[in-house]
Amino acid sequence: MSVQAPVHSRTTHHWQRELATAVRSGMELRRRLRLPHSDSDSSATPAAESDFPVLVTESYLQRMRPGDPQDPLLLQVLPQHSETQQQPGFRADPVGDLQAELTPGVLQKYHGRALLVTTGACAIHCRYCFRRSFPYADLPVSAEQWQQALRAIQEDTTISEIILSGGDPLLLTDGRLRNLVTQLEQIPHLDRLRIHTRLPIVLPSRITTELLDLLQQSRLQSIMVIHANHAAELAGDCRDAIQRLLRSGIPVLNQTVLLRHINDDADTLEQLSLSLINLGVMPYYLHQLDRVHGAAHFEVPEQQGRQLIEELTARLPGYAVPRYVQEIPGETSKTRISP
Ligand SMILES: *Cc1c(COP(=O)(O)O)cnc(C)c1O
Ligand code: SF4
Repeated sequence: MSVQAPVHSRTTHHWQRELATAVRSGMELRRRLRLPHSDSDSSATPAAESDFPVLVTESYLQRMRPGDPQDPLLLQVLPQHSETQQQPGFRADPVGDLQAELTPGVLQKYHGRALLVTTGACAIHCRYCFRRSFPYADLPVSAEQWQQALRAIQEDTTISEIILSGGDPLLLTDGRLRNLVTQLEQIPHLDRLRIHTRLPIVLPSRITTELLDLLQQSRLQSIMVIHANHAAELAGDCRDAIQRLLRSGIPVLNQTVLLRHINDDADTLEQLSLSLINLGVMPYYLHQLDRVHGAAHFEVPEQQGRQLIEELTARLPGYAVPRYVQEIPGETSKTRISP
């Protein structure tokens, strides 16, 4: 079947249709995974859901084990009652994004790199997300505001790398991305385009030939930083998407968030690193959880994180051990927690 419904005279791609039919409630998620509905656990979480709605793609759902309430992928997306409880030390903007704004939508914290918050939208809602409270409504949406963002980058000749972030920058259509990349290419001091995206993991159909062509043809060197937290995420169509990226000559790095009951043991982290390197993806960062409102139940103590890194260092090739880091507002780089 090659019949596709036109939307505003454009083609709706497979990935857009998949996103449109994603699971959008905890009830539906439980039903699809044949999990019991019980009031004593996390099934009734309207407050948590209205704050930050459930969103899970079909592709990601397919990698969860039906009937297992402890599935490590499920735990990343299922709301918990505890999300709505205030915890001391957990804030709305734990990483100081609001202080680092050069102009709306452009964050600069580190030398040579500026981060463009391209969209507030994601294809999945990770319950521990540090941007769950970011004021996305203030993003540059008008053409004028985009021009202001691009001007700020143009005026700072120390910037050589633009990081497209969000939300998820790959939720922009290929047309909008092409526009943006074309404009960035015209800024002579830029050399690299880094894309921080979870879509190869959660919406692999987004890695279209058109996208790969666009990145390959650019004069800017592309680097993709994906986000996987567990080896079980690196299965099925996700592997194909990553292989297509690598075959296009785009280096792929991975960042992971250290998460309680999901990847806080040495075997799980070892398996994740091995799965990544066997695919050709380099482990980059293991992040200590940013202390955002609602995420306290995911936190792993730093001391435990240090021991895990020690264990990984004893088991794995050096290049397969991610850097264990934390983001401290005001610092000139991510801060290493263990050497
Ligand atoms: C994390 C981050 C970067 C990237 O840092 P690297 O260490 O180069 O990966 C850049 N800008 C901002 C605002 C960030 O939060
Ligand atoms: S994909 Fe990334 S930005 Fe989006 S909710 Fe998950 S962690 Fe947050």
